Amino acid sequence: MQTGQLLAIYVDALGTLQRQTEQLQAQYADQMQCRRGCAGCCRDGFTIREIEALYLLEGFNALPEETQQLICQNLESPSEKCPLLVDEACSLYRNRPVLCRAYGLMIQLKETISTCPLNFTDHQAQKLSVLDIAPYYELLDELSERLPSQSKPAAKASIRDMLRRHLSIA
Ligand code: SF4
Ligand code: SF4
Repeated sequence: MQTGQLLAIYVDALGTLQRQTEQLQAQYADQMQCRRGCAGCCRDGFTIREIEALYLLEGFNALPEETQQLICQNLESPSEKCPLLVDEACSLYRNRPVLCRAYGLMIQLKETISTCPLNFTDHQAQKLSVLDIAPYYELLDELSERLPSQSKPAAKASIRDMLRRHLSIA
């Protein structure tokens, strides 16, 4: 299967994820603080899969040159912040990875349930709906495994490392 077809499957799954997250966000709107400019969760270090990196690159290539340059500067400078943050907002919001789309809700990955401490401060006392993101990670791994070898600089890595390799930033 070609890279474009694999990306199409990924984008389709993102549509399903979006419907799930929108439903939960509406359900818990009175408990969630997520908004533009609240970027405390946008930290560098969590790992993404190759298929997610390719979709980020697709978005990167469509950005104005000035924004691309700002991102490249971020990629070159060590920081705890995600290198895609520009003016405290995600510069590739439409193309953001799976975890960025689910974070802030109660999410489950295998045995671990987590959320942002700014939301659901008393979640242990409540019976909240949990979004299981493990099936999405299974799909990410499967799609990434099926990518042609030239599209795969690494099995999984941080956004910074993935994009530095793809953009040949030393
Ligand atoms: S998950 Fe937490 S830090 Fe991130 S936008 Fe929502 S409230 Fe802010
Ligand atoms: S990709 Fe965007 S949403 Fe995800 S951590 Fe980076 S800046 Fe935040």
